[in-house]
Amino acid sequence: MTSIAEGLASIQNAIPSNVTLVAVSKTKPIEAIQEAYALGMRDFGENRAVELAEKAKTLPSDIRWHAIGHLQRNKAAIVAPISTLIHAVDSVRLYDELSKYAGEKLEVLIQIHIADEQNKHGFSPDNFKKILEIGDDFHSPNVKIRGLMGMATFTDNNSQITNEFKALRTLFDEISPTMGEDFDTVSMGMSGDWKIAIDEGSTLIRVGSAIFGSRN
Ligand SMILES: *Cc1c(COP(=O)(O)O)cnc(C)c1O
Repeated sequence: MTSIAEGLASIQNAIPSNVTLVAVSKTKPIEAIQEAYALGMRDFGENRAVELAEKAKTLPSDIRWHAIGHLQRNKAAIVAPISTLIHAVDSVRLYDELSKYAGEKLEVLIQIHIADEQNKHGFSPDNFKKILEIGDDFHSPNVKIRGLMGMATFTDNNSQITNEFKALRTLFDEISPTMGEDFDTVSMGMSGDWKIAIDEGSTLIRVGSAIFGSRN
């Protein structure tokens, strides 16, 4: 079994300097996060609101917490005040709810559905472009859209994964000119597909099991 130090180092040594590594610590104990923290990691990802809140309370305050998974609106109040970046805004209603708890500033990503799977959340590229064209939504002064997030299909078919990540990056490039200068983040790539994601223009990878070992 590889250690946390080995797992982290092998990824850090392989990624370009413009790509942020978020260590996905969901289901893992406090001690595992402390070990990665001691090695210099500051960006951690969690997908459950209560678990995120408990870990944030216990661990050092300079950790940047990333809320990565599907977020229910009734958890917005818990997650908004402690998160550096919320990755999975998949509805206008969630965005609006987050703005109530955002304080002065909250940064979010819009989740885009790129996978060939029904059970992944997010806007279709066309639907999101349409909402932007109409222009009525996503205007809260305290909730800043920093970019897009997507998850590829869980498959061994690398050309399919490549095409899905390409679609996300293409959408990002297409809408960038209208999104302002802080629109700079493409969150794509996990343990199984982060290399492909970087080749396709990811700026942030969310890696769990390749660092902390497999989850139950
Ligand atoms: C769990 C999770 C990850 C990390 O998955 P691994 O395959 O363990 O790297 C990344 N992104 C999201 C949204 C997740 O829920």
